[in-house]
Order: sequence, then C-alpha cells, then structure tokens
Amino acid sequence: MPSFNSNDQSQPISQSIYESTSRITNMSRQTVIKIGVDALNEVGSDLICKVCILNGGSCCSGCRHLVDGIGCANRNTSCTAWLCGFLKYLLYATRLLKEWDDFWRQVPGQDFREDFTPEVFFVEKPLQMNRIRNLSEALATDLRELASEQIAIGFILTLREKIDKNIDRLNHCKNDPKKQIKIERELQVLSSRFHNFQKALRDYHLNRIEGENK
Ligand code: SF4
Ligand code: SF4
Repeated sequence: MPSFNSNDQSQPISQSIYESTSRITNMSRQTVIKIGVDALNEVGSDLICKVCILNGGSCCSGCRHLVDGIGCANRNTSCTAWLCGFLKYLLYATRLLKEWDDFWRQVPGQDFREDFTPEVFFVEKPLQMNRIRNLSEALATDLRELASEQIAIGFILTLREKIDKNIDRLNHCKNDPKKQIKIERELQVLSSRFHNFQKALRDYHLNRIEGENK
C-alpha cells in the first residue's frame, strides 16, 4: 500500500531499521508498523506510488479508511506488509524480497485492509533493508515514460499485475528449477523496458559485490 499520506510524502526517516529491531524479542503492533513504514521510505516506495496513483492505480482506491487530504486513517500491519507488483519487483530485483517476507511472516493477524495483530507479540528476526531510493527513482522514471508512450490506458497497471503474478508463481515453485528459469525469463521480458532501472540495478549489484569482497 502507498507508504505515505499527503503530509509525509518521501521523507526518509533517519532511524536505523536494524537498530530499531535488533535484540528485541517482544514487539508492539505500533512499532512493527513504524518499522515497515520506515523501511518503505528507505527503499523509496513513495516515488513509485506517485506515478502509479497518477495513472489511476492506487491500491487504496475505494477503501473506507482513505481520508481526503490526509491519507490512510487506519494504518495497519496488513497494508504495511503488502506489496504490489511494482514494489515486489523492486525488492525481488535487489534481492531484498525474502528479507521483507521473512520479517512480515512473524507478524500475526494480517488481513485485508485491517489487522487483528496483538498489541504485543514475539519477533525473532530484524528487518534489514537497504537505502535504494535511487533505484525507485529510476523505476518511477521508466514507469512515467512508459505510461506516456502507451496509447492503451492502464498499460503500466496491467504490467504491474503481470509482474506480481509471476513473482508469486516464482515463490510457489522453489523446488522446480526448470519452472523457475521459465518464470525468471518471463520477468526479464516484462521488465525489459525499465531501461533506467536496469542500469541503476547493474550499478547496485556491482557495488554490492565490491562491498562483499572488501
Ligand atoms: S499499487 Fe503499489 S505503486 Fe500503486 S499506490 Fe499501491 S503500493 Fe503504490
Ligand atoms: S487501510 Fe485502506 S487507506 Fe489504509 S493503507 Fe490500507 S487500503 Fe490504504
């Protein structure tokens, strides 16, 4: 779900996500929501959401908790954890999706646009995301360009759904390498026009590898 409201768009929160969760075993519902919102800001989801919303793709559309000029009036664990196809792709391509999924799997009571998460619960694994706002910026630029080039209304939203479906399929065939390769190829085709993003992604992985070898 969009990680911002009209008052807090794109403001990164400086608190380290790792520090905020490490060594903690009991976590409050409010803390886990804050960790999630901070992480979404760190990865730059708001930049992608802006393009998506401008193109009519808001995932909050029609929700009774959406307040005009304010945004979400019922921030909950479920919507914070949920990723659309664009955000899923961003984390998949940067190899952060498993980190995200593993963290949220620990949070009980997630539902649709509301949660039944207890006020305090047990969390073992911290959430460690990277600051990849430059990658989100690149993807947002690609989506903006694609949307303006296409005659078909909703082109990028159809793309979002196809990417989403394929990443979900990938997660469901972990023991089938042949099927995985086929789906990964499909994702390469679907993302082949994300030129700015692919360039930024190459740099990101090169820096990551260099960092690991130091
Ligand atoms: S569908 Fe995704 S990109 Fe669009 S507004 Fe929701 S979270 Fe943001
Ligand atoms: S509760 Fe509704 S308005 Fe709030 S994030 Fe979820 S879908 Fe959007």
